[in-house]
Amino acid sequence: MSSAHLLCEVARRAYERGLIAGAEGNLSLRLASDRILCTPSGRCKGRLSPDELCIVALDGRQLEGSSTPSSEIRLHLALYRAADAARHPIVSIVHTHSPFATTLALLGQSVPAGLLPEADVLLGPIPLIPYRTPGTDAVGEAVAPHVARGFTAILANHGAVAWGRDAESALLHAETLESVCRVYCQARALGTPVAIPPDLIPALRDARRRRIAANA
Ligand SMILES: [Zn+2]
Repeated sequence: MSSAHLLCEVARRAYERGLIAGAEGNLSLRLASDRILCTPSGRCKGRLSPDELCIVALDGRQLEGSSTPSSEIRLHLALYRAADAARHPIVSIVHTHSPFATTLALLGQSVPAGLLPEADVLLGPIPLIPYRTPGTDAVGEAVAPHVARGFTAILANHGAVAWGRDAESALLHAETLESVCRVYCQARALGTPVAIPPDLIPALRDARRRRIAANA
């Protein structure tokens, strides 16, 4: 499968799983150090064809494609640059306004560590990033300090972003984040979440360190 077909397939799955709705959301896949394949602006991500994708350089110049790149591509580019600087390269980014992550984003909250093993091990810390204007470099720059510490972030009053070593991994992180946020919201609605016993936290922390070091 070509990179363009792969990104369309991952975008379709994100759409069908309800992580993105309408024309929102955007995805990218790094083809080479200065060539980023990305989804176009204003199209339903569930029905993209490879010829609708664009290729941009790390500085935002459009290199290929007749569509207009997503207005939020600057978030992706700032994150790729930050990952390079941290020597923790990432290959794919999925930005969504998935409902439960965005619910927490509106409340100015994230999911605390120490509640759900899959959150702690698969995702690592889930930072809440202060609001920055969508479409500006400031969004990615605010996420940048967290790029080597985990795989996702919640963007206050906006949505969520996930990244990974390939497109499948970035989608898996976006899906896991939404699932964890949904369970956390439901638990909060019904009662008070109970933390994992403190003496069992180090085992989770070790597993998380191994996973993040492997950039899984
Ligand atoms: Zn957005």
